[in-house]
Amino acid sequence: MAQAQANIGVIGMAVMGSNLARNLASREGNTVAIYNRSAEKTRAVVSEFPEAGFVASESIEEFAASLVKPRTAIIMVKAGAGTDAVINQLTTVFEPGDIIVDGGNALFTDTIRREKAVRETGINFVGAGISGGEEGALKGPSIMPGGSAEAWETLGPILKSIAAVAEGEPCVTHVGTDGAGHFVKMIHNGIEYADMQLIAEAYDLIRRGTGKSPAEIADIFTEWNKGELESYLIEITAEVLRQVDAKTGQPLVDVIVDQAGAKGTGAWTVQTALDLGIPVSGIAEAVFARSLSSKPAQRAAASSLPGPSSEWTVDDADAFVEDVRQALYASKIIAYSQGFDEIVAGAEEYNWDIKKGDIAKIWRGGCIIRAQFLNRITEAYDENPGLVALVTAPYFTDAVSQAQDAWRRVVVAAAQAGIPSPAFSSSLSYYDGLRADRLPAALVQGQRDFFGAHTYRRVDAEGTFHTLWSGDR
Ligand code: NAP
Repeated sequence: MAQAQANIGVIGMAVMGSNLARNLASREGNTVAIYNRSAEKTRAVVSEFPEAGFVASESIEEFAASLVKPRTAIIMVKAGAGTDAVINQLTTVFEPGDIIVDGGNALFTDTIRREKAVRETGINFVGAGISGGEEGALKGPSIMPGGSAEAWETLGPILKSIAAVAEGEPCVTHVGTDGAGHFVKMIHNGIEYADMQLIAEAYDLIRRGTGKSPAEIADIFTEWNKGELESYLIEITAEVLRQVDAKTGQPLVDVIVDQAGAKGTGAWTVQTALDLGIPVSGIAEAVFARSLSSKPAQRAAASSLPGPSSEWTVDDADAFVEDVRQALYASKIIAYSQGFDEIVAGAEEYNWDIKKGDIAKIWRGGCIIRAQFLNRITEAYDENPGLVALVTAPYFTDAVSQAQDAWRRVVVAAAQAGIPSPAFSSSLSYYDGLRADRLPAALVQGQRDFFGAHTYRRVDAEGTFHTLWSGDR
């Protein structure tokens, strides 16, 4: 049996697990145990990265024995059945007081179930969302751990040592109990979908409205990245647009098939929002836009449907680009506002004490949606922890009111030109719906009472009412 010498272990030696293990090994004082279902992958990692000094095992028993007690192991395997299989193995070799961390992209309800089951054995279970892709895992991700406060005491210092650092602070915090971490990671990914779709719509409108080339639009994005839109996604968009295809000499973006894939976390965000009754319309449109793009048969069948007859070009390209920039910023504020609404609703439903300002802080570095304006979100929640909607915080209200004329011009132009702008348009509709004095929901209530006697409330009296409609028999 191996001698206990490692203070932390990683299970799963695919790209995320091996990079996270290397990140851990690079920190002072850590000795990292590794294990993978297929031993050849473990051997490959050991020989490729000898400097990491990994303590490698080829059985789960050997892995457990190589860890100093109380043991801590991070699982980085294929989410779903793979995670359950590894947890089942670990609970047979771990002991009460040990800590199992699931760093994969688990659905938060699975994490709640697993935490409950593992807790009954006396072992701690922590579901931790990890964002930043393979580079983040290696150099410093944003980490969103749930689980118990006791587990966080042991785990906190280790996770802080490997997390990204933003403005001197590690991008990790104890999000809340059981599935809170994976819930917040799910929302992060939902916002990521919206952010990416909004950027894609901005690019499309500028290209089709001004005739600028992808490389010219890359320069615009680079410029935007110096201001309030500064973010990782804007930065990489410029790089993607600048890329030239080696084979054809064309802009690479013109050679890539226009069908966007998805791994499901955006859909989870929307499904959960539907269950919680939270309108995350920007995120939903982003998920649906990917679905629409990936329906080639429907798109081919509809390609001859009529649209606006004349070719569209804007009169003043510079003014239009600036309008699009403002529309992008306003729509982005709406997407984040909706995402934070879902966090608030989830926290209420599942009894999590989630500090919204801290979530914005840990998203400032390491993760895909890292952006300058997350500081403004932290400030907004620090100022008013009970904020009912992010967009109503003074900074964001000012930003949106400054942008709204441009935002409306862009949505009108897109509609008139027949260019799809689902995320821009739905964000504007959401904004107008939220600020409306009176909504046509009153008519919907009338209809519901008419056909189903669902009753309604009156503006001038307490209680519920039903009308004997002329259609009632
Ligand atoms: P992956 O392709 O999702 O999974 C491959 C790993 O899972 C391999 O180590 C594989 O072992 C193991 N595995 C699969 N089924 C198993 C089972 N039944 N029992 C034991 N092990 C099993 O790997 P990844 O891309 O590195 O991602 C790991 C986790 O991180 C996933 O949950 C993923 O969603 C999450 N994540 C990924 C990213 C990313 O950018 N890739 C970002 C954030 C989070 P074998 O080698 O034996 O097949």
